[in-house]
Amino acid sequence: MSDSYQFFIVGGGPGGSVTAALLAGAGYRVALCEQKTFPRAKVCGEFVSAQARPVLKRLGALAEFDRLGGPPICRVRACPQRGRPLTAFMPAAVGAFPRAIARDAFDQLLLDRARAAGATILQPCHVTSVARNDAGFVIETTAHGALAATAVVLAHGLAQKGDLSPGWRPPPRPRGNSFVCFKAHFENLALADNTIAIGGIRGLYAGAVRTTDLPEDGDGRVGRRCYSVAFAVKQEMLARYGSSAEANYGQLAGGNPGFNAVLARAQRDSPWVASGPWDPGVRTLYREGRFFVGNAAGEVHALVGEGMTLALAGGALLADTVVAAHVGNNLSPGALNAIGRAYAARWHAMFGPRYRAANIFTSCLIRPFIADAAAMMLRLFPTLLDACVAHSGKLATVG
Ligand SMILES: Cc1cc2nc3c(=O)[nH]c(=O)nc-3n(C[C@H](O)[C@H](O)[C@H](O)COP(=O)(O)OP(=O)(O)OC[C@H]3O[C@@H](n4cnc5c(N)ncnc54)[C@H](O)[C@@H]3O)c2cc1C
Repeated sequence: MSDSYQFFIVGGGPGGSVTAALLAGAGYRVALCEQKTFPRAKVCGEFVSAQARPVLKRLGALAEFDRLGGPPICRVRACPQRGRPLTAFMPAAVGAFPRAIARDAFDQLLLDRARAAGATILQPCHVTSVARNDAGFVIETTAHGALAATAVVLAHGLAQKGDLSPGWRPPPRPRGNSFVCFKAHFENLALADNTIAIGGIRGLYAGAVRTTDLPEDGDGRVGRRCYSVAFAVKQEMLARYGSSAEANYGQLAGGNPGFNAVLARAQRDSPWVASGPWDPGVRTLYREGRFFVGNAAGEVHALVGEGMTLALAGGALLADTVVAAHVGNNLSPGALNAIGRAYAARWHAMFGPRYRAANIFTSCLIRPFIADAAAMMLRLFPTLLDACVAHSGKLATVG
């Protein structure tokens, strides 16, 4: 076995990269292993809430994020299945508004920050197993063989279902809670630059927002407006709606007049990407030297556009908990267990309410009767919608 690391991070998405950057910046020997060559297609609405900004600032990535991202988003247009759309104003958390950014640009930016901070980046390289021994862990990889580490950070997103970590707990799976997700880039949406549109039909919810401009095309056109359109549909509804992205997109457009108005002249500019089945919920945060970050720790409903921010904030929380433990290079099993307990407790206190709020909002939007009743209430008391936006995590400062 060759190199030995103090922290070995599986996955180069937002959660893995921020953890690697901050732990390497604190002086730890860190390796990050990402199986895919970037840019890679990723199902994601690409909306980054303003609470991500303090973490991006710590990474020295904020100026580049603002340069690459779309315009600031200060309004939410909620399209219930019936009746006219409702508008809420996004609170300017941390003195700035959210923006959307293409995932290929964002993930590369964050991975570059991890590399610049001193983390060793192994890419493309697939982790095939993580096993404990007396000294810590042996990590088997496709491109670099067996590597040794004292602790492992699992930031592998939803792709892995427990095979890298015996004892990893999938969330409780209420019947019919699995979703399949689709995303593509579009041009020509009827949507103001400063607005994110959300909408749903029975068992399906969607979001659309202006993101990073499209690159120059073959005719030399530059600065073309690009919109990310992503949606999640309950697996059980595929039998009724059809299993393809186009079939479900058609159902959404046909079943929700408000959202259809946004999509009426839309032209798709990228292939559809699909992922799933996907089960939102909170999972394991720590188990015997293994830390869980980002979606591997918990998946929040995509409706609230908080997954990347929670992955960034969760990674920063883990790195800060390690540093605050003042254990230096003494990463003994006892020290790791104490850090793991502190990380899990702080994670639940900071992020638990947002997961619960996202579940409630999503349940309302994809059940037509409840959505209609909620829309009626919101029309009578419009400030309630602003409160919902705030409760989905658009107010508190993180990081
Ligand atoms: C339909 C939909 C819309 C969404 N919209 C938004 C939105 O608008 N805003 C938002 O903030 N969030 C959104 N999300 C959620 C967001 O995409 C995720 O929360 C976020 O990507 C989680 O980051 P992560 O780092 O935990 O995992 P990921 O981004 O999934 O990264 C994990 C990485 O690990 C790598 N990996 C996996 N297994 C291995 C292995 N064995 N070896 C090596 N590498 C491995 C993968 O290749 C991947 O690059 C959406 C999700 C869905 C499904």
